[in-house]
Amino acid sequence: MVCAAVSSLSDKETLRITCLVIGWLLTLVAVGPSSFWFVWELVRKGKARSVEDPNTVIPGWKQLCQSMGIEKDIKVKVYPNLRNAYANDTTIKIGQPVLDSLNSVAIKAVFVHELGHIKINYVLKLRHLLVVILVGVALATVMLLVFTYSAGPLGSSLLMCSALLILISFMGIAMRFISWPDEYRADLIAMQYVNRGAVVSFLTAMAALRKMDVTRDFYRHPSINKRIANLGWSQKTRFKKWYFEL
Ligand SMILES: [Zn+2]
Repeated sequence: MVCAAVSSLSDKETLRITCLVIGWLLTLVAVGPSSFWFVWELVRKGKARSVEDPNTVIPGWKQLCQSMGIEKDIKVKVYPNLRNAYANDTTIKIGQPVLDSLNSVAIKAVFVHELGHIKINYVLKLRHLLVVILVGVALATVMLLVFTYSAGPLGSSLLMCSALLILISFMGIAMRFISWPDEYRADLIAMQYVNRGAVVSFLTAMAALRKMDVTRDFYRHPSINKRIANLGWSQKTRFKKWYFEL
């Protein structure tokens, strides 16, 4: 009788652990492919070289920043292995491979796109998002600890796995609604300062450089095809597409 109770308890424990592992694996599958390259790229981007005078990369840099209403000094850093460009509130980080393989018009479009992010307070929004993610991760950890160390019934494990998946989906959805409109907006700002052809050439050249599937959406970025289409969407369609189209 006792043995039966112990064995059934251990079966439940095994099931509980199996559920946890399956939950985490599903979570990794949901998030992994989209974030793996992003993290890998950051890890191996190499040592930054500060560009003393951004005019050497973008002729008329100061005037460009001023014409976009950006008063603060924006620094430019070049990374030897980065096949991408990012902006935070004071710095634009760009990869040497980008500078080497894009033509001058497309390079200017990349910079104007990044300045567009600075203009729309990109970093502030990302910080908000980071807080959401950290809170989510803390919540998940607490739930994991509670359910792992409490001898709850099997149901609680299933509940926790579902809760984790819901949390991850929520993070993906949050990215979709926060990050995608920012990308669309930065592309439209870029189009005001260089022409549409330049934005299209920057998007296609970056996709080629990064060997991206132009139809694939990511958590942080809509697909290249959607971003190109965005340049031609009317104001009314735009809102609908930015926020409601999957
Ligand atoms: Zn961007």
